[in-house]
Amino acid sequence: MDNFRKQYFEKRAELLLKNLRSRHFEAYYCPDRATALEKALDLIPRDASIGWGGAISAQQIGLMDALKSGGYNTYDRDTCSSPEERVRMMKKCLTADVFLTGANAISMDGEMVNIDGMGNRVAAIVYGPDSVIVIAGMNKVTDTLEDAVTRARTVAAPINKQRFGQDTPCGVTGVCADCKSEGCICNQILITRNCRPAGRIKFILVGEELGF
Ligand code: SF4
Repeated sequence: MDNFRKQYFEKRAELLLKNLRSRHFEAYYCPDRATALEKALDLIPRDASIGWGGAISAQQIGLMDALKSGGYNTYDRDTCSSPEERVRMMKKCLTADVFLTGANAISMDGEMVNIDGMGNRVAAIVYGPDSVIVIAGMNKVTDTLEDAVTRARTVAAPINKQRFGQDTPCGVTGVCADCKSEGCICNQILITRNCRPAGRIKFILVGEELGF
């Protein structure tokens, strides 16, 4: 990554960390994927059960591979052999000790926006796991909350839908049509604006482009 972008991310992160902490989130800035992986492993107790949902950025920093090869107790729905088992695993994640997630967008004043189809990811962010670790590239940061919602709905969701098929307008055209399709992945829109108990949600901001 070029130095100008690096500087840009670092400068924006300084203010964002301050604003996230003012809302009782724990927040850290890591300049690259390698230091983000170290920080994430620091925050995960060795004996914890660990679940996740919609965490491409965590995968991209190598966290899932490190957890699996390190013998951690992971609740990985991709290892399930039937749809029923997969649903049971997703429900189990709601009571994991640690939940890993990405963010669809984060506003500079420290509010996080996430969109969900089934609701399992946003449910775990709201309540259940004792610790929620958000891994997000600085490309997810927007100037305002309004921009964050727009980013989640018009950028993150249409890209995400490309993974799941063409049964929605955005799946076909790449553009959100505010649909009510059965296959809609924008059924829940969560704004996380403050953290209680303090420190339950931890942000690891990464000075690279991650996820979408
Ligand atoms: S078209 Fe539907 S599924 Fe696609 S981004 Fe818009 S609301 Fe979400």
